[in-house]
Amino acid sequence: MSAVLGLVEHDQGKLNEASLEMLTLARGVAQALNAPLEAVIIGAEEAQARALADALRPYGVAKAYWVRHEALRDYAPLAWAKGVAQLVQQRQPKAVLAAGTDRGHELIAHVGAQLGVVAATNCVEVRAQANGPWALTRLRWGGSLLEDAELKGEPKLLTVAPHAVAAEPAPSPATEGVELELELEAFTPELSDSDLVVRVVERVQAERKGVPLTEAKVVVGGGRGVGSAEGFKMLEELAALLGGAVGCSRVATNNGWRPHTDQIGQTGVQIAPDLYIACGISGAIQHMVGVKGAKRILAINKDPEAPIFQRADYGVIGDLHEIVPKLIEEIKKIKAGQAG
Ligand SMILES: Cc1cc2nc3c(=O)[nH]c(=O)nc-3n(C[C@H](O)[C@H](O)[C@H](O)COP(=O)(O)OP(=O)(O)OC[C@H]3O[C@@H](n4cnc5c(N)ncnc54)[C@H](O)[C@@H]3O)c2cc1C
Repeated sequence: MSAVLGLVEHDQGKLNEASLEMLTLARGVAQALNAPLEAVIIGAEEAQARALADALRPYGVAKAYWVRHEALRDYAPLAWAKGVAQLVQQRQPKAVLAAGTDRGHELIAHVGAQLGVVAATNCVEVRAQANGPWALTRLRWGGSLLEDAELKGEPKLLTVAPHAVAAEPAPSPATEGVELELELEAFTPELSDSDLVVRVVERVQAERKGVPLTEAKVVVGGGRGVGSAEGFKMLEELAALLGGAVGCSRVATNNGWRPHTDQIGQTGVQIAPDLYIACGISGAIQHMVGVKGAKRILAINKDPEAPIFQRADYGVIGDLHEIVPKLIEEIKKIKAGQAG
């Protein structure tokens, strides 16, 4: 019977949680179509694939395919997509879903291109039917807009927006307490050197001191107004005093002042601190979608008309190069007073 396939994202055997959310949504789709839910694990060592398959079983997965090949050990988007496309041609699934991560989007786009089928990204709701187009709701503009859309084509290709659904194991009274192994079927695709023009050749551990940006309770963000890589030193000092982390706008990454891992927004990370201090940032929509989760925003900007003031809870109009050092001084005084 034609299945619904979920592409399980992992990095060298480490499961990405967004895949469990995707499988939870995919399970609903499979139920609506009266089809089995099957998982696809690409690359990985055999023991890792086995462990991944076992971790998926509680999510209602009936069977897993392990797409294995020497060339698939590490991420290579064209080759991974070719592996999936060949599996799709053999298994003829009703749909292929991936998590709405950078990798999931890249992979599903390549699968679509190789199969000549359209793909819908960042879906939050999928109303599947056996025949005809599916009705979808998906995130657009970095989540600031919800779009109702129709998805045509066979098979249906889509990605599921992260956090669209909570990852929930399937209710499985029949197997409760019973240790069952999920069936894991190996599939070896045919690949050529040209499929490996894009591949991981080296892994470099990102250097990050202190709290990760996505977990920080206080984030100090810097934009064009900071003016230089050097200018971020005072933002680092302010963040360190508050036990927080430094982030930035795309202008700061484009200018090479900060690494891309620090970029907040639509094409960067989403943060949810108690306080976001935005320094010299105008408040473009693509930046603000990354700070939607911030409880309070303090904006420091010399332009009283800057759009960020419409979103900020507190605003200071002035030159950040004067204001941030004063803030640092005051915090140091308070801390010294507390210590004394
Ligand atoms: C598809 C797409 C995706 C994008 N993704 C992202 C993303 O993920 N993240 C992101 O940030 N952007 C993103 N952008 C870019 C975004 O549209 C803006 O261009 C960018 O956020 C602007 O950065 P900025 O606020 O630092 O610079 P600007 O918009 O130039 O604003 C600089 C601000 O600094 C103020 N300023 C200048 N000097 C000082 C000073 N001395 N003291 C105080 N204030 C000062 C100015 O008044 C101004 O308000 C994306 C754009 C596109 C098209």
